[in-house]
Amino acid sequence: MKVMIGDCCLELVQGDITKQQVDAIVNAANSRLAGGGGVDGAIHRAAGPTLMEETRRRYPDGCPTGDAVVTSAGNLPAKYVFHAVGPVWRGGNAREKELLQSCYRRCLELAIENGCESIAFPAISTGAYGYPMDLAAEHSLQAVIDFLREHGKPKLVRFVLFGEGAYGAYCRALEELMAR
Ligand code: ADP
Repeated sequence: MKVMIGDCCLELVQGDITKQQVDAIVNAANSRLAGGGGVDGAIHRAAGPTLMEETRRRYPDGCPTGDAVVTSAGNLPAKYVFHAVGPVWRGGNAREKELLQSCYRRCLELAIENGCESIAFPAISTGAYGYPMDLAAEHSLQAVIDFLREHGKPKLVRFVLFGEGAYGAYCRALEELMAR
């Protein structure tokens, strides 16, 4: 599914984020940038060891929740990896929405700062961190739509959803948000 926000394309696809031919892909990292399972494991495996070496060297203190840091992308087709730290879902009253939306905004800012015209996001926090998929879809898409309306770039924002359930949830949320 694809919609235009002004001159920008917002696209949802089902697939594997490590395969995306875009300027930057986003990793759902933890605050120690220590590596993990899920999308983080897949990205580090596909990128090779230089990714972890660079993360350790440049960000020994890790990255706070709601923020993101940039590295090169090793063997991946992308130019950069943005390591974003999403919130752990604690029931919804622990600033989860604000922190999740902050992750997406920070990555879009990093895209602009690094001259990226295209960026691919996974569904941050919806795996091990337990954020309910339908809420994550609404909150993350709203943050991206607001950013694109305000800044008019990057040109392409793609959500790469892992599996049919996630893809369906994001499609439903995007339809609702566009009808508002
Ligand atoms: P978090 O700790 O932020 O919840 P996870 O990696 O556990 O991060 O999960 C985030 C989302 O990424 C989940 O919806 C998971 O299904 C998805 N995911 C896992 N592997 C990939 C992949 N290769 N490409 C895209 N999404 C993936």
